[in-house]
Amino acid sequence: MTAQRILVLGTGGTIAGWGSGATGAAYRPGGVALESLVAHLATLGLAAELVPEEIARIGSQDIGWAEWRALHAACTAALADPQIGGILIAHGTDTAEETGFLLDLTLPTTKPIVLVGAMRPADAVGADGMRNFANAVKVACDPQAAGRGVMLVMGDAVLAARDARKAATSSVDAFRSFPRGPLARVTPASIDWFGPPHRMGAAARYPFPPELPRVAILAAGAGMDERPVQALLGIGARGIVLAGMGQGNAPRVVIDALARAAASGVPVVRATRVDEGLVDRNVEVDDDALGLVAARALGPAKARMLLMVLIANGIVDPARVQAAFGAG
Ligand code: ASP
Repeated sequence: MTAQRILVLGTGGTIAGWGSGATGAAYRPGGVALESLVAHLATLGLAAELVPEEIARIGSQDIGWAEWRALHAACTAALADPQIGGILIAHGTDTAEETGFLLDLTLPTTKPIVLVGAMRPADAVGADGMRNFANAVKVACDPQAAGRGVMLVMGDAVLAARDARKAATSSVDAFRSFPRGPLARVTPASIDWFGPPHRMGAAARYPFPPELPRVAILAAGAGMDERPVQALLGIGARGIVLAGMGQGNAPRVVIDALARAAASGVPVVRATRVDEGLVDRNVEVDDDALGLVAARALGPAKARMLLMVLIANGIVDPARVQAAFGAG
């Protein structure tokens, strides 16, 4: 059997991090060139031909529109290339959920697209990057990997980008998956899927937008007033995601200000600052009367990403925005 050809897109992050040696703490994300990482991978005897293409060498806290557009273009070209069997994206973990979800929303599911990161820089003792990379290659080469949307491989688990969330700042087991659990367990030698592909051959859900509008996340805190909402509207926010308390709650004056924003045509999505759980419509907040949208299973970072894509595609009506987030 011939080895699969896998495109490896590099963006930097801790997986390409280099710093103060085996036991130091400080490091620079993206300190190692993608070519060096791929050359090291080639020594592991993986059953794949890896084709590196460096998009950026940055910490993912600095990722944004230029890198997303470049990643989307590279993925689109690779999906059309019959020589390429799958796509890996080496990415920092801080915003892997945002990049993964954006690509999940805007690319078809015809070939595996797998984000991979690491929590420890490449020169740290017990670095997790090469194992995660080897696992990700295993996923990208697997005949059952396509048709599941964009995935993230970390810590021997395969997560759907839509469900993945960074939940720990430094442990190697940093990601959680909600509302679905992991799609598979993976090691460099084995892969066990927990169900069949559910989006086989699906088209992109949304066209990739020509630009992304300003959508702000407003963090709720006890005792706050409505002035942060006014400030966000003052800097031209075209949508607002509330990282609310509990089921997407906020003090009454804040909810009233958000309702006024919604009435003026700025879509408002209520998400939660709580680690996990659905935000449903009309629980303590009367979304029907106030024109607000419930984020359902999406946390603030992913709710913002979806809202940006929706607004960019002209979808601002609360009912249509709610339909995209899931009814409820
Ligand atoms: N700040 C780093 C990044 O997101 C952290 C990591 O990759 O784990 O690029």
